[in-house]
Amino acid sequence: MTNTPAVILVTGASRGLGRGIAIELASGGYSVAINYACNKQAAEECEALCKEVASDPNQQFLPVQADVSDPTARKAMLETIIEKFGRIDGLVSNAGIAPKVRADITEASEESFQELIKTNLQGPYFLTQEVANHLLNTKQKPALNSGKGMIVFVTSISSHTASISRGDYCISKAGLSMAAQLWAQRLSDENIPVYELRPGIMKTDMTSAVTEKYDALIADGLVPQHRWGTPEDLGKAVLSLVDGNFPFSTGAVIDVDGGFQIRSL
Ligand code: NAP
Repeated sequence: MTNTPAVILVTGASRGLGRGIAIELASGGYSVAINYACNKQAAEECEALCKEVASDPNQQFLPVQADVSDPTARKAMLETIIEKFGRIDGLVSNAGIAPKVRADITEASEESFQELIKTNLQGPYFLTQEVANHLLNTKQKPALNSGKGMIVFVTSISSHTASISRGDYCISKAGLSMAAQLWAQRLSDENIPVYELRPGIMKTDMTSAVTEKYDALIADGLVPQHRWGTPEDLGKAVLSLVDGNFPFSTGAVIDVDGGFQIRSL
């Protein structure tokens, strides 16, 4: 262990769930690399906010632009992080997109399928490969309570819930759930735990177009805890993992869905 705050890369952290994760990690004393795809202003706002909630004078924050679906951009992002902090300790793979159009699977386009697989599955899978190889080959002293490093995948209830107007999204998330299992198995001997977080219906830009639909479903009892999830809900779960509170649980799937996954009769 070192006195240097551990450095966590959170992808898709300019808004929504990723922003909530970055804020909680900042309040927990971590340095955070805040990735975003295109919205520089949002990243600067997030950096300012992280500084407000920061709890350690040695913490540092870095907004870093990169399209996670682009291999060159991923590599450059990692190089930028190592250059700035001299290390990376954890990755929270949160960036993701919904299909531009919710189309029935009898009509949905191959173009949308490819875009979602590239962004939601291929990008996080190979970004994990890059971070894992860094963790395996680095001589940096561990700075996390939990081990040499940590990987967290943000998937979705769509990993196991069939939505026929978002088949591409569901398949990308189901694939990402398997990616989490594969990386957990591969890194289990290396003191690098891997977890999957499955958010349910969360209040962010991603769901803004279907607010009324989900309001009605929630009022109707779809979510046992009777409310939307928030970025803070997910951020608190990530902070608990990164703090090392699940030391014997690599590969665990943690539902942050208000009980959505409970089957009842
Ligand atoms: P959001 O509000 O739409 O925010 C998406 C974030 O991802 C933004 O920061 C965006 O950056 C970033 N992003 C998108 N494409 C990217 C790319 N190619 N490279 C890098 N960053 C990219 O979405 P959210 O609701 O917070 O969702 C976050 C994650 O949770 C996603 O993986 C999503 O699938 C998952 N999830 C969401 C819900 C929900 O109900 N909202 C439920 C389950 C799972 P810019 O600001 O630069 O565009």
